[in-house]
Amino acid sequence: MRFQHLKIIVAGGLLIACEKSGLPISYETEHLRIATDLEHPLCAGDLIAFEGVIGRVEDELGFSMESKVSVSIWSDEGWGAVVGEYCGRDRSVIGCTSYRENAIYTSLSAVEHELVHAAVAIPKLTPFFSEGLADVYGGRRQTRFGITAPADNLGLSTTGVDRRTARHFVMWLRETWGSAKLGELARLGKHAVERFDAVYGLNFAEAEAMYFTEAPYGYPSLDACSGAPLDFADDLGGWRAMLAFDCGAGEDVRAEGIGMMVRRTFVIPNAGYYSLSTDADAVLLSRCATGAIEEPVRLDEFLDDDVPPSYANELSEVFALYLGARGETHRGSECVTGARGQGPKPQSYRAYYKVSGHRDRAPGACSGS
Ligand SMILES: [Zn+2]
Repeated sequence: MRFQHLKIIVAGGLLIACEKSGLPISYETEHLRIATDLEHPLCAGDLIAFEGVIGRVEDELGFSMESKVSVSIWSDEGWGAVVGEYCGRDRSVIGCTSYRENAIYTSLSAVEHELVHAAVAIPKLTPFFSEGLADVYGGRRQTRFGITAPADNLGLSTTGVDRRTARHFVMWLRETWGSAKLGELARLGKHAVERFDAVYGLNFAEAEAMYFTEAPYGYPSLDACSGAPLDFADDLGGWRAMLAFDCGAGEDVRAEGIGMMVRRTFVIPNAGYYSLSTDADAVLLSRCATGAIEEPVRLDEFLDDDVPPSYANELSEVFALYLGARGETHRGSECVTGARGQGPKPQSYRAYYKVSGHRDRAPGACSGS
């Protein structure tokens, strides 16, 4: 099913627009021509998010995407059958960008990462930096120390780089010296390591020593708390959302597996019981960090008395059941009211919850709240 609200190139008569991948072009945005081999359509929020990644790279790193990039997207399940055809023999690759073709071939889950590669169009950039930039500016990944030192990765290829180290180091550079210098570094291309001091005023070894001394345990992803604010409802003693899961028109509705997902962010000011009310089929609730993460937190420490951290960016099924059982569940799991936020001592933090529903589901109101 295609949604008419999206910009769709309709194939008429004998003229059918196709990418080199053979997939029909389904969507067109300011910077992208997108062809998909997905069982379900992309949603309006996906196209906005894709453009958002490009806009962030342009704003922060000072690049500008001059011509439209062709993006061919396969489902994560279908990707394995075509990876060799477009991205080489390594079957662990989940997407690739061809600067020569001005094209991206990718599985759905790697689109944002590849969009950064396409927007930072420096083909010879040291892979340690290009992979770190793609993970950080793709916006999805929290960062942590990896298992290798940054210096051990400088001579490695794209597939050999320790991605955790790459993205944490790049995020630390961003947080310490700002994004404009990262853009300058990227423009050095294959000389990024040897001329590192021209940008930062210290050489790479000195920066690495500083990183090991000063970098925090982790950083949240750039999109960690990006959901639109969710308003507090006095009569509910909590937050209420009436979410229309309109894939074609909802600006914050994104495709998620066979369903849809909307993300919201809200602030829990004090320890206590609060409720959440929505007509969605499922709710995932987790904390989103707003600054550096100073020490590791374990998900299982939070199951009973606090909103858990977004360590894995989502809750386990066990927690989802717990949420429904402790709160109120109407009409099966369609409407979930959860009681949350009872901590051992008052504290302030932000959390977001993710809501998902089937893509053909009619919007409705949550009753009984
Ligand atoms: Zn990459």
